[in-house]
Amino acid sequence: MSLIAIDIGGTTVKGALFCGDRIAAERALPTPGQEGRDAIFRTLFALIDGLAEDAGEGVAAIGISSAGNIHPASGVCLYATDNLMGWTGADIRGEVERRFGVPCRADNDAVCALMGELTLCPGLRDVTMLTFGTGVGGASLVNGSILRGQNFDAGRWGHVCLHPQGERCSCGKRGCAEAYLSATALLRRGRERIPALSSCKELFELAGRGVAEACAVVKAFAADLDLLLDDIRTVLAPERIILGGGVAQSAPLFLPLLQRQDDILLAQLGSRAGVYGARSLVIDYDNAKENEQ
Ligand SMILES: [Zn+2]
Repeated sequence: MSLIAIDIGGTTVKGALFCGDRIAAERALPTPGQEGRDAIFRTLFALIDGLAEDAGEGVAAIGISSAGNIHPASGVCLYATDNLMGWTGADIRGEVERRFGVPCRADNDAVCALMGELTLCPGLRDVTMLTFGTGVGGASLVNGSILRGQNFDAGRWGHVCLHPQGERCSCGKRGCAEAYLSATALLRRGRERIPALSSCKELFELAGRGVAEACAVVKAFAADLDLLLDDIRTVLAPERIILGGGVAQSAPLFLPLLQRQDDILLAQLGSRAGVYGARSLVIDYDNAKENEQ
């Protein structure tokens, strides 16, 4: 039996079909993040239908990584920002189990990304992961357990305040790390100086070639990232801080600007960290089935 793992991000919904440790098929669809809850569920179901077809046999369980504050036991989205309009209150686990008739588990996307990366460095017990994409995701493993907090929203480092009275964040507060360090924010900052800028990747390329305007933006980005990293080290003193997401792919251009790099790891699974983490939510169903055979 195979497992389906889904990663619902602000821009793309990605899915993978796992047969054991192997990814047998992958699919992706754009996230209709501004079209409301029903549209997001339609996209999710279409992706699962496609992967179930790829499986050609029964699927044992479905694991879902989703942006937002997800209750890990019930699989309900307790809170999501407007990157996923209407997702707050969505019963992800319930809707998927009713539609597909197999067990489903859901958790926050940053938690899933961390769990995915941890499969590659299983000995670590104190790790924080930051993902830089549409938003800034954060999750922390403390003494071997995911830091949850009473509303399952602890460790959301993207919404630590870096600049009081600063830029407005998607969460409604001002000055959050996400408003400075997300790909969206970085592109906005880049365009303030280079109006024709097409992407963060281009910004880093220009900085790599020594273009002064681009270097200034990357330097400001590194300074803000230093503030966030310092907060994390002060509070949790992790063994490692893993940086992931699209912006982290340009790490060679900003890591040397950071005050400290010895505890930094770069994510290894790239855009697949979420689906690997989503798979780990339901891995027991796979083992259970295999043991029965
Ligand atoms: Zn915020």
